[in-house]
Amino acid sequence: MSDTYPWPDGHRAGLCVTFDFDGESPLLWRRRDDPPGDVAELEQRRYGPRRGVHHILDTLDRTGVRATFFVPGWIAATYRSSVAEIHAAGHELALHGWCHEPPADLGAGELRDTLTRASDLLAEISGVRPAGYRSPSFRMSPEGFEVLAGLGLTYDSSVMGDDRPYRIGDLVEIPVDWATDDAVYYRYTGGESRPPYGAGDLYDAWHAELAGAREAGTLVNLTMHPWQSGRPARALWLRQLLRDAQDFGDLWIGTAGDLAAHHRDTAQGAAGVLDVPTDTLGWPL
Ligand SMILES: [Zn+2]
Repeated sequence: MSDTYPWPDGHRAGLCVTFDFDGESPLLWRRRDDPPGDVAELEQRRYGPRRGVHHILDTLDRTGVRATFFVPGWIAATYRSSVAEIHAAGHELALHGWCHEPPADLGAGELRDTLTRASDLLAEISGVRPAGYRSPSFRMSPEGFEVLAGLGLTYDSSVMGDDRPYRIGDLVEIPVDWATDDAVYYRYTGGESRPPYGAGDLYDAWHAELAGAREAGTLVNLTMHPWQSGRPARALWLRQLLRDAQDFGDLWIGTAGDLAAHHRDTAQGAAGVLDVPTDTLGWPL
């Protein structure tokens, strides 16, 4: 796959800035059968929708970067005004389950029902029907792609099979990477064997990711969580990273939805652009 990806407007590489605005919903799903007696992690996670998201929106406003926010329906119902604020600031809203359910934990009918409910709510809040989806915890099932296409979504952003946009079945895939997920560096809820990364250390690590992408003509798809990256020092270093990315001048920077539309309209079918049939995704033996 040595062919050059046709980035918009002749750019050399791409950057998507995305947030999984999931707050306490992953914990609610994970501990649904044995709710914890203490509120420590709930409160830590609630920092995202209460406060962190506003530091993030300020960072995006100061840099003029438009981002994609993947929002579970339960979060949209619980923190409706924050979600309306994200939309009013010009950012994209997309799906992330109802209460952060990975597709592999649900039957196809349940997945369809939870996403329909979440899509209806986001459309009611924003006036715009979501076009994309990210699977909770990056855990996707082969059937999940079929459900998404059946709901009329145009893109997914959950798996890591390429470092440029590609096609999976009827969907455009905007691939992710653990190395550009803030949770790998910042997630610390007490008891972990290592402290969280410093904000400056992550800035250095992600600078290296941008350099690699500019060299190879690939995508950096930052995945962040407002309860982690929304802390003030981290938002400050993120602002600097985004300004550096803009100053390079050769990076296309936009939402996952905009990149998916570009892929569908222009890039798919170009030499070397990957197209994966859904029925080849599962376990092969
Ligand atoms: Zn999530």
